[in-house]
Amino acid sequence: MKCIKCSAELPEGNITCDKCGTSYVLRCIDCNYIAIADMEHRPHCQGQLIPVWNPSEEELLALGIRCFMPFTDDRIYDIYLGGNRNGGGYDFRNKPGYTGPSVETVVLPSMVAGMPIVGIWNNFFCTGEDFTPEVYDKTFERMYPIKEIVVSEGIREAGIHAFFGCCGLETLVLPKSMKKMMYDFYDLFPNGLNPYPNGRARGPLTICYRGSEQDWANVAVPTLLNDMVKKGYIKLKFDYMD
Ligand SMILES: [Zn+2]
Ligand SMILES: [Zn+2]
Repeated sequence: MKCIKCSAELPEGNITCDKCGTSYVLRCIDCNYIAIADMEHRPHCQGQLIPVWNPSEEELLALGIRCFMPFTDDRIYDIYLGGNRNGGGYDFRNKPGYTGPSVETVVLPSMVAGMPIVGIWNNFFCTGEDFTPEVYDKTFERMYPIKEIVVSEGIREAGIHAFFGCCGLETLVLPKSMKKMMYDFYDLFPNGLNPYPNGRARGPLTICYRGSEQDWANVAVPTLLNDMVKKGYIKLKFDYMD
């Protein structure tokens, strides 16, 4: 495994990058085990423990990534990427979950401050307003530089329109933990593989899935996604390792 920040090789079992200090926790790729606090790994689980990025909320906000942490005084519920925490409650206020900067590779974490993130909320990259015709070109230019999105191991769901607007996307790395894809990729191919409406090039998208072909058969996906695979707009790679 390479550090997502500085690309240095992470020594096995080490949870902090020696070179840049980025924090990781070990997570099992087969069960929900996270090597922190009092959790015990299931005795018979053969799953490999891999380091996953464990940023603080501040670190994420500095990268333009918001977390949605619905909570009451005594309890934090499932955390999703998207939306933002505000004082004692939470709100969306029509803000996208991701506000940039528009870098070539965006890594979406499966942990925040030692807590697991369950999924990617609907419209994570854009709000509906970003795609009204009047601002479309501006949104398009903001999103086009993003060529690769890496979803960290542990994320289980991607909501409706989760990657909506990522019009320059070439590679999407999906974790073995993914169970439910509600996003159908339809907006990425308005002209098939012909250039985008404003003339920008559109090639096929490669989905690099970390599970096997058999694992993929158990992931709930929209019918449209399968259609796009058949048409060659989306290429699926299994057992992906980096
Ligand atoms: Zn590093
Ligand atoms: Zn396990």
